[in-house]
Amino acid sequence: MRRNWMLLLLVVLTLETRGAEPIPDKLVVLTFDDSVASQFTVVRPLLQKYRFGATFFITEGFSFSTDKKNYMTWEQIAQLHRDGFEIGNHTRDHFGVNSKNFAQLKEQLQAINDRCATHQIPKPTSFAYPGNSIAKEALPVLAEMGIRFARRGGAPEFPYEKGGGLAYELGLDHLLLIPTAGDARPDWTLDNLKKAVALAKNGKIAVLQFHGVPDLDHPWVNTPVERFGEYMKFLNEGGFKVIALRDIEKYVTGIDPPPDPFAIIETRKKAISNGTSAP
Ligand SMILES: [Zn+2]
Repeated sequence: MRRNWMLLLLVVLTLETRGAEPIPDKLVVLTFDDSVASQFTVVRPLLQKYRFGATFFITEGFSFSTDKKNYMTWEQIAQLHRDGFEIGNHTRDHFGVNSKNFAQLKEQLQAINDRCATHQIPKPTSFAYPGNSIAKEALPVLAEMGIRFARRGGAPEFPYEKGGGLAYELGLDHLLLIPTAGDARPDWTLDNLKKAVALAKNGKIAVLQFHGVPDLDHPWVNTPVERFGEYMKFLNEGGFKVIALRDIEKYVTGIDPPPDPFAIIETRKKAISNGTSAP
């Protein structure tokens, strides 16, 4: 009899530990795009100081191959991996995918996978859409290439220019269309960051998007060093849990994807234009 009870207890415990862990409030994902040199020289030491996780989305686009003043080397990217940060795929040529060119996405991803293999970096399982350009035809290609999580921008719900966005909602947002809560702009202040991370509550995750700190080759998404210092200090002192995109796995395991990945985007767009949802 006692043995049966023990067995029952074991079954219950096993069931309890399966499935997703609840998403805590103040959960923030940090992402850095475009392989910018200052991500190694400025961002890396600051993240290490605060023990923050982060994902670096790597591309060989722009002037990556010739301008090593503004872009990281693969040796630096490999060091970020060895430091414990996540290396994500941002395509070879900073390839803005759309419904016409999606057939080329696979080779664009494979080129970065090959470079990672050469530099002993694990095959990326996270992806960021270059230029935040999304297309429904991209989703099966990403899945086939082993991508678990794909980050988009705050658009189309919000205009690209201001960098506003929305938080990821469990079960509503497809894991290959994870929205950006805030995409840092040169004129951002600490208030913009506070607004973006305030969305990280009630089971929602705030994914932040940064480029270089500073970013001399992409001035329209530059973040001044001083501002970035304020942002990270605020996250640290505010008790935020700051992780890489791959680290959301334990919170989303076993959750069914929405039947129509784009339905939530349309619903939100309508709500925003009707004024029923605060921008
Ligand atoms: Zn980019």
